[in-house]
Amino acid sequence: MIGKKNVVAWLMMLMTVLCFSSPASVSAASFPDVSKSHRAYDEVMYLANKKILSGYTDGTFKPGSYVTRSEAASMIGRALQLKGGYRQTEYRDVPKGHYASGYIQDMSSDNILSGYGNGYFGVSDKLTREQMASILSRAWSFKETSNLSFTDVPKSSPTYVPINKLATAGIVGGYPNGKFGPKDYIMRADFALMLARVLNPEFRSKPAEPKPEPPPPLPPTSTPIAQAQVTADFLNVRTGPDANNSAIGMLRYGTTVDVYTKLSNGWAYIKSSSLTGYVHGGYLKYGFSDTSNPSNPLSGKIIVVDAGHGDHDPGASGYGMKEKDLTLIVSKHLRDYLEDAGATVVMTRETDIFHELEERVSIAKKAKGDVFVSVHINSFNGKAHGTETYYSSDNAMSEENKKLATFIQKRMMSSDLDMEDRGVKKGPFYVIKYQKNMPSTLVELGFIDHKDDALRLASDTWRKKAANAIHLGIKDYFSNK
Ligand SMILES: [Zn+2]
Repeated sequence: MIGKKNVVAWLMMLMTVLCFSSPASVSAASFPDVSKSHRAYDEVMYLANKKILSGYTDGTFKPGSYVTRSEAASMIGRALQLKGGYRQTEYRDVPKGHYASGYIQDMSSDNILSGYGNGYFGVSDKLTREQMASILSRAWSFKETSNLSFTDVPKSSPTYVPINKLATAGIVGGYPNGKFGPKDYIMRADFALMLARVLNPEFRSKPAEPKPEPPPPLPPTSTPIAQAQVTADFLNVRTGPDANNSAIGMLRYGTTVDVYTKLSNGWAYIKSSSLTGYVHGGYLKYGFSDTSNPSNPLSGKIIVVDAGHGDHDPGASGYGMKEKDLTLIVSKHLRDYLEDAGATVVMTRETDIFHELEERVSIAKKAKGDVFVSVHINSFNGKAHGTETYYSSDNAMSEENKKLATFIQKRMMSSDLDMEDRGVKKGPFYVIKYQKNMPSTLVELGFIDHKDDALRLASDTWRKKAANAIHLGIKDYFSNK
């Protein structure tokens, strides 16, 4: 979207061209250092012909030189058809006699430009790429936003929105590595590209910059240099070390990976149990203590996951939620984490169906499971809250049952779930008492009728974290066997 100011500027510019241009002046500009094959040739010629920018006295354009803040103000001021000239300004470093004083003051009055807030404009400082984006987005009132983003412009950055607006309008592209370089000084060639695209939408459809060939994947060195955990909900694994490379798969929150190479651009070469490739290192957490054995203790294990209740048996309820729905969601997340870690998962149910308790035990027995984990959610009187994990001491697996429950409860408490520790408890529940062929446990994630616990249970991010904690607890159990 382009604001009214631009329309006015356009009409004025059109009139100028119609009334005062001669064919000779239109084709006059040419610079020995901007050849026809230069990436910004068309844009530089376009702006030079409009007398918005000009070369140096030696006839060159110097496309690789940086633009100062006063040069930028004059060029943008001319593009906006502002008055310019010599004016008193509000800045201590821009005297009336300065060649850009009129444009600087015009644009400051219109809130298109601003100084440093200390009385200085920074008249000789170089303009950064993010400053350019802010000025253009204010001057031409770009409004539309999208989810385009650059790896080095976080949402928290004050220039995220202006950069996003310009990217959405096709005015700015990033560098080939997916970065924008917000603090980099802008070169005259890029300044011309951006300004021409603002003024003439025909320049916008051109590809921003040529994409490089994706580099071939590095072979992993024989031993990883570190282990790390994924901190994004989903993290793309790519064929090369930047966002231009195609994704070969995704890793879930909490997945543990071996890191083989850390690159200077922030990307890392990693290996999970199922994927090998490059990920953005900003979504990896290093230095966590994984007690597991690197040889992947879950690989080949059969884990039976039992989502409590189902169909006409809703289990507990509170705050508009039913236990049977939440246990199924968490169980599916748990299945995904376990499968990513190389385990085989058998679910007692994957939809909203009902099984008798005997049926759940016999599914596990038939599957020849290595462990059985039943997922439940508590309720009491609205006042109780927290996580507890149960085991049975009434069968031959008693010792192993307790170990399994303890590892899971420990992970539930150390995984940033913010739950009260109600401990590891003996329980008489059918599905664990009669699970005689494999260690078994029953996790009560929290209380559905308690307002704080309910809030957490309602969050899918929390549910993923809880599922990941159970998965890590099971992994710890096997690592310590
Ligand atoms: Zn239950």
